[in-house]
Amino acid sequence: MCTRVHRHSIFCILPPHILRAIATNSAQQPEREAALRTLSLDSTFRSLRLAGGIPTGRPHIARLGAEEGSKQRTIYSANGHQDLPGEIMRKEGSTPSSDVAANEAYDGLGSTYDFYWENFARHSIDDEGMPLNATIHYGSKYNNAFWNGEQMVFGDGDGAIFERFTKCLDVIGHELTHGVTQDEAGLIYQFQPGALNESVSDVFGSLIKQFQLKQTADKADWLIGAGLFTSRIQGKALRSMAAPGTAYDDPTLGKDPQPAHMRNLVRTFEDNGGVHINSGIPNHAFYLAATKLGGYAWEKAGRIWYETLKDARLRPNAGFSRFAKLTVSVAGRLYGATSSEAKAVGDAWKEVGVRT
Ligand SMILES: [Zn+2]
Repeated sequence: MCTRVHRHSIFCILPPHILRAIATNSAQQPEREAALRTLSLDSTFRSLRLAGGIPTGRPHIARLGAEEGSKQRTIYSANGHQDLPGEIMRKEGSTPSSDVAANEAYDGLGSTYDFYWENFARHSIDDEGMPLNATIHYGSKYNNAFWNGEQMVFGDGDGAIFERFTKCLDVIGHELTHGVTQDEAGLIYQFQPGALNESVSDVFGSLIKQFQLKQTADKADWLIGAGLFTSRIQGKALRSMAAPGTAYDDPTLGKDPQPAHMRNLVRTFEDNGGVHINSGIPNHAFYLAATKLGGYAWEKAGRIWYETLKDARLRPNAGFSRFAKLTVSVAGRLYGATSSEAKAVGDAWKEVGVRT
């Protein structure tokens, strides 16, 4: 069921504080310019979101759903411009393109569909076979990727600090999961509900990568966006679920600001009230629960989080403690109130200071 209220939203993988740091700290004018151009576009999107009118969804974009269990992908190119969706590069079932970004987007959308279908019998973003559309080569040196409520959009990155944004499967999974969250829980994109919205996207983005690599919880890197930075940057990734606040520490980007515990909750009006910052706390709780449970993280911890997202008791304005309580309740329903699963989830939230 598509929630129209939340359709006109833009969810970017990069928070504004990273781009602002580049605009302030970089010694290279082209880098500063690319960061400022990205910031300016993103802030236009944000004002349009507030006004409720992001101009998306041209009539010729693919809309007819696929049959259950089969996906329908179309990859477009904006060819350096900002018109969506752009020129068709690759359609479902067609041979690979000579454009590496087109194939990465196609494969990433496919892996995300397969993850949700094979594990949760979820038929695309809306569980009704929504076609998966993506536009690559958006804008000039655009340093971001976003989900606009109808499709994915990828920039090429500036090549100096950021690689192309199609490179990381967890980034693609993160963005498409914003569509799932919109559809199921509609978590408001600010303050704690917004940080939960961001965290759910990181959780499933990471699980989609782990599922693709068939990694158990102890083997996974628990990073978001590993490989997105060029080798010049001192950093592993955009975020770390295992150790929030340690993903990067670089003269141009500054230091990863994520807290891992409630005592370090960041109070700010920037970044929609720190949605990409305080997501470190629920991210770390998920990591702790998944590693306590062991095995494939999507099988137990992932299922508990997914069922929580679908639970009617999860309201759009839920904060961390409400969400935590629901995960424990859902774990109890799935595995038993006194099960080791319910205990592991409860203990994880205690360790990050959300539950006492
Ligand atoms: Zn996001």
